[in-house]
Order: sequence, then C-alpha cells, then structure tokens
Amino acid sequence: MDAINKLANLSSLMELEPVEETGCPKMSAGAKVPPKKESINISQAVMPGGKRIRLLKTLLTSACERNCYYCPFRAGRDFRRATFTPDELAKTFINLHQSGIAEGIFLSSGIAGGSIRTQDRMIATAEILRNNLGYRGYLHLKLMPGVEHAQVERSMQLADRVSVNLEAPNMQRLERLAPRKTFIEELLQPLRWVEEYRRSQPGYLGWNGHWPSTTTQFVVGAAGETDLELLKTTEYLHRNLGLRRAYFSAFRPIPDTPLENLPAESPLREFRLYQASFLLRDYGFNLEDLSFDPSSNLPHDTDPKIAWAQTHLASQPVEINRADREVLLRIPGIGPQSVKAILTARRTKSIQNLEDLNRIGINSSRAAPFILLNGKRPTRQLSLW
Ligand code: SF4
Repeated sequence: MDAINKLANLSSLMELEPVEETGCPKMSAGAKVPPKKESINISQAVMPGGKRIRLLKTLLTSACERNCYYCPFRAGRDFRRATFTPDELAKTFINLHQSGIAEGIFLSSGIAGGSIRTQDRMIATAEILRNNLGYRGYLHLKLMPGVEHAQVERSMQLADRVSVNLEAPNMQRLERLAPRKTFIEELLQPLRWVEEYRRSQPGYLGWNGHWPSTTTQFVVGAAGETDLELLKTTEYLHRNLGLRRAYFSAFRPIPDTPLENLPAESPLREFRLYQASFLLRDYGFNLEDLSFDPSSNLPHDTDPKIAWAQTHLASQPVEINRADREVLLRIPGIGPQSVKAILTARRTKSIQNLEDLNRIGINSSRAAPFILLNGKRPTRQLSLW
C-alpha cells in the first residue's frame, strides 16, 4: 500500500471519533455510519476560539492487540489493517498540510507492542512534525491506556489537545466493554497527570503558549450505564481535572464483535447528554439541578434546561433588566454569549420587549415564558398554527 492509500485506509477508520467542536452537536437523524469506501478523512473542526480548520483524523496503526467488545479494531477481527512508521506518517501529513488539504491533525492508534511502545511512536511522530518539519499547526494526540507519566508530559509539550477515551463512567461499566482495561490506573490516571502538570507548572507554557486542553469520549448504551452515571463522571472531570469537553458516542453494533447483536443506541440520548453536560460545564448547573427518570436517565422528550425552568422559573420569572449573570444563564434560550449581549445592552437602556432581545441575537421565543421585562410578562405573539 502506498502512503496515500494507507492514509485513506487509516483515516477512514477514524469516522467514529468525534470532530473537535465547541458547541452542542446538532441532533443527527440516525446513528453514525462508517464511510462506504476508503477516503482520506478530513473533517471541518471548530477550534476553541471559534476558528474552523480542516482536520485530518488518522490512526498510526489499525492493528490492535486488545479485544474491547464494541471496537472494530479488536484483535482477531478480520479486516485490512495498515501501519505507518512515525516518519512516514509525519511526511505524508506535512505534504497534505503544505498543499492546503489539511490544516491540523488528530492522531490516534490501535495498541501494537504494548501501550508504552505505541505512545512512544505517537510522540515520535509529533516530534518529527514539530522539530524536523517545522509544523506549527493544530495537533491532537490521543493518550493510550496505561501510558507513563513522562509520556504524558512529553505529549503535553507537543500537542494542542490530549485525550483519553474513558469509554465508560466507572470500572463496573468498563468491564462490560473492555475487560482488559482498568478504569482508574490505565484511563483516569493519565487525565489526572495532565491536570497535575498544568497546575504544578502554570508558568511553563506548552509549545504554543498554553497547555493542551483535555477531552474524553464515552460509548453510550452498550454497558447498561445510566445517564446519571455518565454525567456524574463528567461533572467530576470538569470540576476536578479541567476537562474541556466530554464526547458521547451512541453505540452502534459492529459485525463480528461480541456486541454485534446489541441494539444501536438512540441518537436522541446522545443529544440530551450533550445538552446536560453543557449545563454542567458552562451554565452553573449541578447534577442535582437535572431531572432524571426513575431509571436514572434524562427524559428524551424534554430539553433538560427547559425541564429545570418549568419547575423553577415558570411561576417566578426572571427580571431581564436586573438579574445577574448566573441567574440569566438559567433561562432557556440564553447562553454565555447572550448574557454578555444583555449586560452590554442594559448599560445604555433597559430592554423593553421581545424585539429588543431578538435584535441582540437572543431566541426570545424560548426565553419568553420565563422572563419579566420591567416587571411585566412580555407580550408574545401566538403562533397561528
Ligand atoms: S484498545 Fe482501543 S483500538 Fe484496541 S480494541 Fe480497545 S478500543 Fe479498540
């Protein structure tokens, strides 16, 4: 296989990894499906500052000696595998970068020859890119389960983002997905080291002037886990380990794996988990603020912020012209950017009606049932239908 075919093969296998993005992904109409034919996988990714870049997502190798029950790369599964050397991958990517096809790279790998050796090869690829080929663009490095402390440090010095896929919210659930992985030692510990390193060396900035952000991904719906379990772990990661983003990936069965007969998870569950995780991360919500059904899952039929507002704000609406930032953030239709717009607009004159809110970019129809404007409920135009 030549380098481009190999890249098409390896990058097409990354379709199940999430694209970097800052906002809540749109509700998809169905489960994610892998591409029908191999092609170089370039995604549109949104960077933390809002900039969009063309991101190459690829594996260093699709060979793997582990046997996670849900995974298409598990050992012994019959499909065409490919492997790059670090030098080969770095040079292939830099050619794409210099020709304007890819502006950034997200590098992951199957585990071949142990996690430590695999991470060494990932780091070697990053070092060739940064030190030999002068690459200054975006680099996301996956941390393999069970990496060493020094490898975490080195990865942080080279990357803009590092990530560990926790896959499940706790050890008991992980055993049902990946029985040879240990939740605390192999998966959570690298995330702890990342945060310890960021905190212990605030003065030393990474290659790009700041330390890399961290993300994780959960497989949703394959281990009997509840939304409460997933969000409890997510809240812990945001509060204690500086996690930038948790990704939720609705399970879909892969042929020739032990979970091939398990039904696919609803994309609506994935969507509600994203909504709830953003409330925890950006809106000042705690786990106790969220409503769960008797089986500890988020109701599918209600947006979790609207569910909270119906209980707490419907009979005690918020005065838009006086409420502080924290209270404004609780109103449906109002996010961190909208709060800034309200606070700025209030400095010059009070907000009189829903049109004033629309003018500063706020979805007033969602907010209207829960607000007061100068002491009065806003007049809403009823929909004709
Ligand atoms: S270690 Fe990673 S690539 Fe290998 S089988 Fe498990 S999830 Fe798949």
